[in-house]
Amino acid sequence: MDLRDSPDEAAFRTELRDWLAANLPAEPGREWSRKLYDAGYVGLTWPQEYGGQGAPYSNQAIVLEEMARVQAPQHLGVIGLGMAGPTIMAHGTDEQKSRYLANILSAEEIWCQGFSEPGAGSDLAGVRTRIEARDDMFVVNGQKVWSSFAHIADFCILLGRSDPDSEKHSGLTYLIVDMKAPGVEVRPLRQITGEAEFNEIFLSDVEVPRENLLGEIGGGWQVAMTTLLHERGTLGFALGGALEAQVGRLVELTKERRRDDPLIRDRVATEWIELQALKFTNYRSLTKLMQTGIPGPEGSVSKLHWSEQNQRLTKLAMEMLDGEDDGYWGYQQLRSRGNTIEAGTSEVLRNIIAERVLGLPRSR
Ligand SMILES: Cc1cc2nc3c(=O)[nH]c(=O)nc-3n(C[C@H](O)[C@H](O)[C@H](O)COP(=O)(O)OP(=O)(O)OC[C@H]3O[C@@H](n4cnc5c(N)ncnc54)[C@H](O)[C@@H]3O)c2cc1C
Repeated sequence: MDLRDSPDEAAFRTELRDWLAANLPAEPGREWSRKLYDAGYVGLTWPQEYGGQGAPYSNQAIVLEEMARVQAPQHLGVIGLGMAGPTIMAHGTDEQKSRYLANILSAEEIWCQGFSEPGAGSDLAGVRTRIEARDDMFVVNGQKVWSSFAHIADFCILLGRSDPDSEKHSGLTYLIVDMKAPGVEVRPLRQITGEAEFNEIFLSDVEVPRENLLGEIGGGWQVAMTTLLHERGTLGFALGGALEAQVGRLVELTKERRRDDPLIRDRVATEWIELQALKFTNYRSLTKLMQTGIPGPEGSVSKLHWSEQNQRLTKLAMEMLDGEDDGYWGYQQLRSRGNTIEAGTSEVLRNIIAERVLGLPRSR
């Protein structure tokens, strides 16, 4: 693959850079998300009939890279864009596609992901939330945890157990749940950073219409796998761009604080080299995505590499600051802890890489 921008891509990048320079807001929010959408920078690879641009993945990669470069706030619909939308496109009915996709892009409706439970995290097949199929609806009872954006979400992609006698991957069903339905209660959880970005969701006799079934009854595991592949697979370029901005800040801090310290210079140079390695991994994933249209397991490499490196890098910055919190690095260090847990812990990602990328035997 030629890694340079084609003339069309270079023109697209320049236009986007100018637009970002003129429009960058201080705060994230629905207004900013809508502005991004109106300018044509959301849903680049999504079909035009659902509000997308029908553009190649390389344009999507450019948008993620450039937004991260200037540290632009994210579109609010992170879960809708990265997970719910691609899953609905792969498994949804035509009615579901028409009903939900365009509103994800415009941020009119926000989504959350109800997969994890107190007894099911890495081992997602352990979910126990009950889904009972009645004539014209499903009734859901159970508890979800760590659901990002649930406090502002309109809909939830929810995985539950429809066959009470089933074990593990079989007997699971995947539903779209209206977060405003009676019986849905959201309780925010406070993180180590002090923010409350994620939540517990309690579901008591929640009635979900039949048409909100995604895939088959009992076929929820296959649908959930599509969600997880997209969760890690399309994230790489945003992560590479964010890391590039972070390494840039680290270099500035080194110049201010420890410019003559040979050991620190050595460690900073190592971080820059690691950043280049991540960028090339991302190019490899992009090539595969452009060839197959489906993110491969390489997405796990990017997520693991970025989250571990970012955590190490924030520690190095705090070391240079002698523990003094300058308002930026202190927060970054605390937030980086969650990054090695969400979307697959580092241990679980190493297992995936060993098995699916390297072809080693299963660990259990
Ligand atoms: C910031 C943040 C946002 C999140 N957002 C969401 C969300 O929106 N929706 C949602 O559903 N979930 C969300 N999660 C939950 C996340 O997916 C889980 O925390 C994650 O899957 C780990 O599950 P767990 O917390 O139950 O830990 P456990 O699975 O109990 O793991 C505990 C420890 O055991 C290790 N471990 C587990 N299994 C293995 C194994 N097979 N081999 C080696 N080590 C292993 C883990 O690496 C970890 O160190 C979020 C989490 C965070 C931190």
